[in-house]
Amino acid sequence: MLASWEMSGATTSRGRRLRVAVVGAGPAGFYTTDYLLRQRELPDVSIEVDLFERLPTPHGLVRSGVAPDHQSIKKVTKAFDRIVSDARTRYFGNVAVGKDLTHAELMQHYDQVVYTTGAATDRKLGVPGEELPGSHAATAFVGWYNGHPDFTEARFDLSAQRVVIVGLGNVAMDVARVLIQLPASLAATDIADYALAALRQSQVREVVLLGRRSAAEAAFSPREIQDIDELEGVTLSIDQAESTLALDAAAFSGDARKNIEFLQAVARRPEREATRRVRLRFLSSPVALEGTGKVDRVKLERNRLQERDGHTSAVGTGDYELLKAGLVFRSIGYFGTPLPGVPFDAASGVICNEHGRVTETASGGIVPRLYTAGWIKRGPVGLIGTNKTDAKETVDKMLADLESGPRHNASPPEVVTHLLNDRGVRVISQADWRRLDELEIAAGAKRGKVREKFASVASMLQALDAIRA
Ligand code: NAP
Repeated sequence: MLASWEMSGATTSRGRRLRVAVVGAGPAGFYTTDYLLRQRELPDVSIEVDLFERLPTPHGLVRSGVAPDHQSIKKVTKAFDRIVSDARTRYFGNVAVGKDLTHAELMQHYDQVVYTTGAATDRKLGVPGEELPGSHAATAFVGWYNGHPDFTEARFDLSAQRVVIVGLGNVAMDVARVLIQLPASLAATDIADYALAALRQSQVREVVLLGRRSAAEAAFSPREIQDIDELEGVTLSIDQAESTLALDAAAFSGDARKNIEFLQAVARRPEREATRRVRLRFLSSPVALEGTGKVDRVKLERNRLQERDGHTSAVGTGDYELLKAGLVFRSIGYFGTPLPGVPFDAASGVICNEHGRVTETASGGIVPRLYTAGWIKRGPVGLIGTNKTDAKETVDKMLADLESGPRHNASPPEVVTHLLNDRGVRVISQADWRRLDELEIAAGAKRGKVREKFASVASMLQALDAIRA
């Protein structure tokens, strides 16, 4: 928690005091906080940040998105925890902005407000049968195996032999890896216990990954597809590989070229013997999910590519095929959700903004003192580190506006604390999170795992009560 403040007004003995609310404790929220605290451009301004998070636990998609077999990526959370341990930062976990505190209240009590709430939902395919049991968002499966409290009650029927995943991004790669690898190789990670138990019983032996365009347009990173190829007991193959082999890798650069070269090598080699398979299938779109009472097959349409205005799109050929599958995941991207009172561009699922400055509409009109960073600013693209440059851009605008924008008199820090207390909101502080963290690590150690996460908000609060009692 914060050290005692020198004064509760807008100026201190150190000069001007700026109180900022950052909403959303994922990577974008932490990087925004970090840049604000590290700013040196305005030596007379001392910045204090209150970081709000709907869940008791911080770290956003690093905790509940990054796959359990990618533990090295999760190490960034140590840096995040250092940021929020700074005496100029307060962590308000378990506080839902829009419910426990309104947007208008944040604007009243803080000099500047930054939304870093990420992209909370998924995109839909929009094909018949999508709502059938057995058809799921990949993001729900990711939340489930990662022990995200919103998804621990979800159920996935892993009795199917074949699973189809629609989309060729890195989320599709994560889901394919978790579904197809030998469960023993996940046992020491932070995967939720119930998910590990379900995967041990899983009958899934084949994952078909569907790309609507060609190998040249696949969205996965070269390392991610290569990781699948290196899984023990798993073979990777390419269906109807002619279109992949016909590509001229030299005509491409960067990841596309690496992917083409790798996939052509896969297509040329003899298929390995293995009981578990991952099949890649390009130029194919699902046009319907079919089955009686649950998904049983996917109706696919073969595509051809069309170039227009420098963009390559997939066009159906009218050539259809049925592919049997007991479980289907759509992995075609996340999508942002609106926040009450904050201008939102419903077409693209982002807060209306210009380089991080929130605007009244998608076409302009700056809203003073209001900002955004991360996926809710730019859309659900990029790796964790992409949020650094993105947060920097927003913080630069915030600091620039201090010189020219309207001045506001933020409330003293205790006002928000009292408001939440009066409303009976159980705020999780940084110290509380540290205790939860220690408990999870200790519970994991007993099972030979990196960590065992609390599966519900209630169990987190109970554990903290037990410590206090
Ligand atoms: P993504 O990278 O945007 O990939 C979405 C995929 O869905 C693309 O292959 C896209 O194909 C396809 N798609 C979209 N609409 C479709 C439709 N109607 N029918 C069929 N296919 C469709 O999204 P993501 O996988 O959710 O990943 C989000 C971000 O997180 C990405 O930047 C990703 O790199 C990052 N991430 C990184 C890691 C990692 O580094 N390990 C792990 C997870 C996520 P088109 O290209 O044809 O549109």
